[in-house]
Amino acid sequence: MASTKLPNTGFSIFSEMTRKANEYQAINLSQGFPEFDCSDRLKERVAYYMGKGFNQYAPLEGVLPLRESISHTIIGLHNRTYDPVSEITITAGATQAIFTAITAFVREDDEVIVIEPAFDTYEPTIRLNGGRPVFVQLTPGTYSINWDEMQRSVNSHTKMIIINTPHNPSGMTFSEEDMLRLQKIVNGSKILILSDEVYEHIVFDRGQHQSVARYPELAKRSLLISSFGKTYNTTGWKVGYCCAPPELTYEFRKIHQLIVYAANTPIQHAYSDMLADKDSWQNLKHFYEQKRNTFVNLIKGSRFKVIPSSGTYFQLLNYSEISDKPDIDFTDYLVKEIGIAAIPLSVFYHEKTDHKVLRFCFAKNDDTLAEAARKLCKL
Ligand code: GLN
Repeated sequence: MASTKLPNTGFSIFSEMTRKANEYQAINLSQGFPEFDCSDRLKERVAYYMGKGFNQYAPLEGVLPLRESISHTIIGLHNRTYDPVSEITITAGATQAIFTAITAFVREDDEVIVIEPAFDTYEPTIRLNGGRPVFVQLTPGTYSINWDEMQRSVNSHTKMIIINTPHNPSGMTFSEEDMLRLQKIVNGSKILILSDEVYEHIVFDRGQHQSVARYPELAKRSLLISSFGKTYNTTGWKVGYCCAPPELTYEFRKIHQLIVYAANTPIQHAYSDMLADKDSWQNLKHFYEQKRNTFVNLIKGSRFKVIPSSGTYFQLLNYSEISDKPDIDFTDYLVKEIGIAAIPLSVFYHEKTDHKVLRFCFAKNDDTLAEAARKLCKL
């Protein structure tokens, strides 16, 4: 008989909610993916490289032009040079990069600090490697980081701290002060940082994305992970990357080759051409800021309480004035009776903490947002 290695892990809430949205023909604001298609230019570039015969294995670390484009982009944005040859690896999406980074470094009984609410793959991946997740809670309501609690959670067993900015699911973004506090905590230690930055180009209100690349003391111990899915409306293509100093990259690539060997070749070449054109990513923050404003304005007349979002394409709404049902039950009611699929926030907590908050994805056409808001305002 099969015995499970992950007794407390089921299947991803994102696939479950998308399945339910389809089953009940609900408006799907649950799993985070854009309703908009990718650009014609990107499709043309992929077709071009396929037509030219770029259809065999890429080097395991990724095609050089894409690694060069990433390096160039990061220099421009954050003024740090990552060597394309020894410090950048192309992965089959950020989820694979996260799995790879944790697997490469976390051993039996190592502690890994996870900030909750947290993206759902961190904890099981740590456990699968014999590590122990140690949870630090964001303050409910504001989702700010309690750095004193973080400081208290660090000890001689701490191998890694996972950070995520802009933060999924809360929509919070780290400030410069947050990064400096983190830097102070890890300074002089051997602690690694896994920095999940997949929403790097979606920061609102003139905020600055706080990449670990901007902080030399952090960057030298960090695995910076990002992806192209959110940036180019191509979440289905599963291509991402990891930037890290050579000795970390070396270990990362050993695991990466075992999992996928290499990522999709023609798509890597196409992304390289896209990245070179700043216009393909630098307006994304304005586009999604507009979407956030549209959604928040539409919701104003409802009994939901809006929790400020300063990045990502997610908006949290508190429904405690509407119902005292647990968030899982309320989500179920919304999808079946009201025709809206959302994500209950409790799934992002190891103790399934229920604050009566749901996550909504606003990467949708204005018509879709208006129709969703109309339904939500009736509650
Ligand atoms: N990142 C997306 C979300 O939070 C989905 C990721 C996934 O479905 N694997 O909704």
